[in-house]
Amino acid sequence: MACKVFFLIYNVNDNLRDISVFSMISKEITSCVVDYISTIAWRNKNIIRCSHPITTIQQRATLGHYRDLGLLFKRCTLLQPTKERLKFIFSKFSQIPCFLLEQCDVPDCRGFTCYGAFLQTLIAGWDELECHRVFNFLCDLTNLLQKTEGVVMAKPGVCRHQELQLRLFCRHVLLNPWLDQSEGQFWLMLLLKPWPLFNQAKILFILYGPLLPEGVLGWQDVVVSVLPHNSLWELAKAILVLFSKMEVRGWSSDSMLAIFEELIVIPEQWHIENVARLLVLCGSSLCYTILASKALNGRLPEVSRLIVFIILVCQKDGYHISWAVKLVQAIWKAISTPPERFNFILQLENTFSDVTKEFYEQAAAGETERERELFISHFLGLLRPKMIHAG
Ligand SMILES: [Zn+2]
Repeated sequence: MACKVFFLIYNVNDNLRDISVFSMISKEITSCVVDYISTIAWRNKNIIRCSHPITTIQQRATLGHYRDLGLLFKRCTLLQPTKERLKFIFSKFSQIPCFLLEQCDVPDCRGFTCYGAFLQTLIAGWDELECHRVFNFLCDLTNLLQKTEGVVMAKPGVCRHQELQLRLFCRHVLLNPWLDQSEGQFWLMLLLKPWPLFNQAKILFILYGPLLPEGVLGWQDVVVSVLPHNSLWELAKAILVLFSKMEVRGWSSDSMLAIFEELIVIPEQWHIENVARLLVLCGSSLCYTILASKALNGRLPEVSRLIVFIILVCQKDGYHISWAVKLVQAIWKAISTPPERFNFILQLENTFSDVTKEFYEQAAAGETERERELFISHFLGLLRPKMIHAG
């Protein structure tokens, strides 16, 4: 009887949201809905829906459709134990090329974004244990761990397509749908946890590293050229998310320092201005923790050079120079004895002179007016804080 009513209503109105509400009325109707959405015809019509919409309106409608699907699957499996629930749900979403890594060749396929919208609606409000199970199911379904291993073990840039697919899948399905920082952190940690620190840094780069206009990762660009702040901003944001509330997830500042140290030598030692810019983008607290730790470990030449370039970045990117001055004061305070503090300031002053000389030589070698202008503006940028310090 209940099923007859369901089909009667369904024939008039096949709205997914309405079916999802209807499925919660009684156990009998739930099983009726479950049977119905298990049919091949329904799967073909509603799940294997085209993820290659052309217009923005179509894209929005498709995304809304997958959100509604998430709600439907959430509601009609409400009474099942998590394991059974996931088995049922993921069996319906298996072997669809647009939801798998390296399976769909359409350049603007929106499959991962749709899958992410579905998943986010489905598991919103679930506890971490259940989300962990979701992750394991997803890994099995997509061979995510094996795919990640393949990319991580290869030399940077060799498997360009696979790198990009991994980035798109993880970002669109698992990371981007969560606006809340702690949820974003949870999923990012799930992705990184199975790997040693060096590989974690590499995965961070693959997921959030600078992307060139032609759609490949800028592995060499961080080494050989100076990147603008928008190229490094996503990486800085990811580092901030990862290390927010470290104590909650059992991370220490040591693991943060270790990952940062690994990151800035992938694939080789980064151009120092890129390291300085990434530090500035990571904000006061993280920047201080990293530089103070280096200073306390006796790495003063490195710290001084980074500070000089941080000042340069402040000057170039329009940050107030007092930010860098406060940073120097905080590091100075972290150093325990007066002779060591004196040594730090001396080192800093010497580095200022060295870097200024380097800039002068570069500018002198440059033949164009533009390079001479650049030198003068950088020189002033470096000189000003030095005068503040002297005052
Ligand atoms: Zn596709």
